[in-house]
Amino acid sequence: MGDCIFCKIVAGEIPSARVYEDESVVAFLDINPVNPGHTLVVPRVHVERLTEAEEGLLAAVAVAVGKCARAVMAATGAEGFNVLQNNGPCSGQVVPHLHVHIIPRNAADGFRFGWRQGAYGEGDMDAMRRRIAERL
Ligand code: 5GP
Ligand code: ZN
Repeated sequence: MGDCIFCKIVAGEIPSARVYEDESVVAFLDINPVNPGHTLVVPRVHVERLTEAEEGLLAAVAVAVGKCARAVMAATGAEGFNVLQNNGPCSGQVVPHLHVHIIPRNAADGFRFGWRQGAYGEGDMDAMRRRIAERL
């Protein structure tokens, strides 16, 4: 895609701190890490959202995320990690090229997601379950 920054990184037109690549994906360090070692795994092809990637590509991304997460953990000595993947501006996606964040974490790192959690009203959970299940 013309002016996609991650397409340019994949093509080598923009420098990046690349940690892994294979025929389907490239992984590189996030330029503004939550913690050092924060890594992004991106498909070589330009797709914007997880829901636009075909199954083979999703599988390749998932395998690469697992590989890279093991290496990030070993390299940083982190206690744990988050895998995060945003879809659409409302979710916090800033770069419109599918990418998976691997964020090494430590209990004392001071970072919190601050999730707001709600509750279902009577019958709403089963209605939602059916609406989703009917589409699968
Ligand atoms: P999003 O909010 O879209 O899920 O995350 C995009 C991520 O890409 C951000 O964490 C941001 O720091 C990172 N990023 C944006 N531009 C560049 C860049 O040019 N190089 C690298 N390495 N990371 C970038
Ligand atoms: Zn792109």
